[in-house]
This record gives sequence, C-alpha cells and structure tokens, in this order.
Amino acid sequence: MSTDPRILAELELLSVARLYGLASPAKRPTAEAADPAPVAAAASVASVRATRPEPASVPATAARAGKTAPVAPAPAGVEAMDWDALRAAVLECRRCGLCEQRKQAVFGVGSPTGPWLFVGEGPGAEEDERGEPFVGQAGRLLDSMLGAAKLARGRDVYIANVVKCRPPGNRVPSPAESAACAAWLDRQVELVAPKIIVALGKTAAIRLTGSEASLASLRGKVHAYRGIPLVVTYHPAYLLRNLPDKSKAWEDLLFARRSFAALA
Ligand code: SF4
Repeated sequence: MSTDPRILAELELLSVARLYGLASPAKRPTAEAADPAPVAAAASVASVRATRPEPASVPATAARAGKTAPVAPAPAGVEAMDWDALRAAVLECRRCGLCEQRKQAVFGVGSPTGPWLFVGEGPGAEEDERGEPFVGQAGRLLDSMLGAAKLARGRDVYIANVVKCRPPGNRVPSPAESAACAAWLDRQVELVAPKIIVALGKTAAIRLTGSEASLASLRGKVHAYRGIPLVVTYHPAYLLRNLPDKSKAWEDLLFARRSFAALA
C-alpha cells in the first residue's frame, strides 16, 4: 500500500514511521501554508462550529443512539450527576443484559477535563478483569499512538466506551445494548466537555455519527457529536489484526491533530 508522502513526513517528525515499517523519501514540508490539509481541517471545524446546535435543542437519547438503536429512556437524574455519582450509577447499572456476565462495569479513565475524548466499543477480558478501558494489547497500541501524537491518557485524554460491560466472547454490542448505555456515555461527554472526540471503530462511529456508512467513508472528515468536532478511525483491536491499516490510523490521528489545532 502507499501512504501520502506528507503524512509520512509528519510520521517521521513524530519518530514513529520506522515503528510501522513506513519508509519515505519525503522531506518535511517547510510551511504549513504549502499543506492544504490544515486548511481543509480548519474549514471542516468551522463548518462544525457553524452548525453547532444549542444544548437545549439536543435530541433525546434515542435519537442520539443511531438510527438502528431502539429508544432507551435515560436513567432518572443522570443529567445532574457529577463524576462520583455517575461512576457509582454505572458500576451498579443493570439496564441491559451485559450486566449478567460482567466481572465489573468499566467506567472510563483519563483526564476529566479532556480536551481529547477517545471512545471505543466495549471492555474486553482484561478490561473486565481490571476495571479500566484499553489496558490489553489494544490499549498498549492506543497508548503508543497517543504518545507519538504527544498525548497521554490522564493528561490530555479521557477514554470511554460505548458500552461499559464486556459483551460475552468480545462480540459486537447490539444496537439495543449501545442504546441502553447511551445516557452514561452522554453524561461523560458533558462532564469532560472535550474539544474533540475520536471514535475508535465501527460501533463508536455508528453511535456517535448516527450513520451506518462504512468506516472507510466516515474517515477523513470532521463530523459533529452534540456540536463537538468528531473524527472517526479504526479500533486498535482491529489494527492488531490488520497491520496494513495502521498507517491509515496514523493518518486519521494526524488529521485529528490538525482539526484540533484548527480549533485554536
Ligand atoms: S452495558 Fe451499560 S447499560 Fe448495559 S448493564 Fe452495563 S453499564 Fe448498564
């Protein structure tokens, strides 16, 4: 596969290209003005800002959960919960069948004020065991990606999942399960108030964009979730099984960085 020389130059700047076997003769662009991508990212972010709805106009949970998700009334009082109350409610939640086989609900981790929010699919076996998202092999890959982008969970990033309980056998959560858990994630989004959201994988992309279009068609664009710029990329667990797509994920992360920079 080929990768855009400009992207490779940025990867080299981040000292990660060799980690992923990406060779490039490209030189780093000498001026941002010569790179049309930041302009495109800025235009996309401006578009998101221009279309940002007022909070009062945000639709109910059912509408936010994606067009295939059934209605799931929000738990009473969730909109007023602080971090401690929200965590306690999630840990005791039995709103869907995923509670039956979990060892524990996996709430979320990282900086409670963002400014980056990464949203994955759901806990795996190791996360179910330890009660923290992205602590297995996929989590280590995510951390290496964050580190290369000069980000770190706990400092710049909050990490959460669409569903807080492990689907048996690590299957994909059903639309009903995603909808049942939507209010918890929505409250996390409100409390973090991120400047940008990165959806990791198809489940998060469907949940946050409301579109069932292919992940490939959703990449490279700035979407919006409740008025917050949203970028879509692959889930780290997918990347572990599909090594050639790692370079695409890097492109997405760099696109997200440019979009974030455009916000400033
Ligand atoms: S997955 Fe979400 S809605 Fe379902 S039981 Fe766990 S916390 Fe509750």
